[in-house]
Amino acid sequence: MDKWFEEKLYPGYRTKLEIDKVLYEGNSEHQKLLLFENSLYGRVLALNDIIQTTERDEFIYHEMLTHPPILAHGAVRKVLIIGGGDGGMLEEVLKHRGISKVTMVEIDGDVVEFSKEHLRFICNDAFEDERLDLVIADGIDFVEKTDERYDVMIVDSSDPVGPAEVLFTQRFYAGAKRCLAQGGVLVTQNGVPFHQGQELAGTISFLRPLFRDTSCYVAPVPIYIGGLMAFGWATDNVTLRQTPLERLRERFRAAGLDTRHYSPEVHFGAFALPPWVRALTEPKK
Ligand code: SAM
Repeated sequence: MDKWFEEKLYPGYRTKLEIDKVLYEGNSEHQKLLLFENSLYGRVLALNDIIQTTERDEFIYHEMLTHPPILAHGAVRKVLIIGGGDGGMLEEVLKHRGISKVTMVEIDGDVVEFSKEHLRFICNDAFEDERLDLVIADGIDFVEKTDERYDVMIVDSSDPVGPAEVLFTQRFYAGAKRCLAQGGVLVTQNGVPFHQGQELAGTISFLRPLFRDTSCYVAPVPIYIGGLMAFGWATDNVTLRQTPLERLRERFRAAGLDTRHYSPEVHFGAFALPPWVRALTEPKK
């Protein structure tokens, strides 16, 4: 195997990570799995040669896609995760003691089994939590069929290539809307707008007719090269995005969370979008 892992997600731009040791390489029913060690990022998971998450910075991504919707909502009992096969999002959601059920819909059961065996540094014992309802299915089929309703829905999908492509469509978001309980919040992994701006603009344009409030918030996740990462935000409760900082502080204290990137202040600031990002979330003039 080449000493270097090369990601070619973006036209005209490639990134390389040195492979110190291959820990696993194989194919599941849906995608190619690779886990390797890198001196800077620790253990690195790639699916179809696209980096999914790393040991060193996964906490930023998982904290920032989990705590803002849950703490803004304030009374979450049921959460739906689409994707998330590495278990990092699940582990972060389960830290909220008020949550009684987490349904995780992952298309590739092999990724879950792989994560239980190789990614305990990300998922810990999340997959053994009795609140977990694990469904191995395509997320779009689940959202169109389930009778369950959720307070928060987190789309922790890979990028819109291969099996995840369908999770960036109007059809999927319409299904997501029907799964949300009244006042529920949908958040989405929406890439790095400096490279994937049209992906973010596309998601928001699909969400806008479905929800009263649509936007995004941002955080820097080092391994997702290109600066800020965007998280789509959609809800009919227009007050949630402006949850006062003092209330976020109260809820954060009450939740007793031990976080390394998320804080109420970081949450509040994450919605202060630079004009070039905000422009991607607004209708074209
Ligand atoms: N943090 C990563 C990122 O930002 O790209 C995402 C990590 S997680 C490993 C992505 C998961 O989405 C994978 O386990 C993949 O199998 C799953 N997935 C892709 N398409 C899916 C679909 N249509 N339905 C459900 N899960 C899907």
